[in-house]
This record gives sequence, structure tokens and C-alpha cells, in this order.
Amino acid sequence: MPIDHTQPYDDSNIFARILRGELPNKTVLETEHSLAFHDINPLAPIHVLVIPKGAYVSWDDFSARASDAELADFSRAIGEVARQVGASAQGYRLLANAGKRAGQEVPHLHVHVFGGQPLGPMLAR
Ligand code: 5GP
Repeated sequence: MPIDHTQPYDDSNIFARILRGELPNKTVLETEHSLAFHDINPLAPIHVLVIPKGAYVSWDDFSARASDAELADFSRAIGEVARQVGASAQGYRLLANAGKRAGQEVPHLHVHVFGGQPLGPMLAR
């Protein structure tokens, strides 16, 4: 069920539970401020989620409230993941859904890293 990204952060969401160690994940990369793990329901041969460890709902929330250190760490973590999983060499796509109209289901900022196959048009019309 898509979420309303203008609501305050809800720390019962699934990614908050992963960050607290309450749920398992297949970790690709962990840094001081970010965690990357394989999506549970991959939509491409490479489908990794990168999340900040801080409590942010969306990109606009993160960019408004995160420290420079968190912003830099998250940005670098996404690039590092793309290189580590072999997406960078082949071409890849980054996607961050925000809010109901974009179909965001988990109310904790996450960037999808897709790769491993031709990715088709940017949006379905
Ligand atoms: P959204 O639609 O919010 O942009 O994407 C949420 C993503 O989280 C989906 O691709 C979904 O498969 C993934 N996801 C949901 N629950 C879990 C989980 O418990 N573990 C992992 N690794 N991925 C999850």
C-alpha cells in the first residue's frame, strides 16, 4: 500500500526494523551512515536497496534535514554499491519513489539500484 510521504517518520517500518537488527537482510555494503541490501522481491538480476541509517522518509526529507556527512556517505554508498555488484560496468538505473503517486511502499528513504539486464524505457506511459 503506497504511503503518504508527508507524514512524520514511522519507526515501525520494515527498513527501520532491519536497521535495528529485528529483521534479517542480505547486506551488500554497510558504512557509517548507510546500509545496502538485496531487495526481497528483485525486479531485475541486480536489485539492491540503499538506505540511510537516519530516520528519513523521502529524498526531500533527507536533503532538508541530513548532515553533510550523511549526505556524502549516502551518495558515495550508492556509487560504491553500483561498482561492487557489477552494475556500473554494464549500465544501471537509480530510482527513489516518494509518496503515494510514485508508489512508495516503505516510508524510509531508499534508492533502488537496478541492473543486469536492459532496463527499458524510463517510465511506462
Ligand atoms: P518502494 O515501492 O517503496 O519504492 O520499494 C520498496 C521495496 O522494498 C520493494 O522493492 C520491496 O520488494 C522491498 N522490500 C519490502 N520489504 C522488504 C524486506 O523485508 N526486505 C527487503 N530486503 N526488501 C523489502
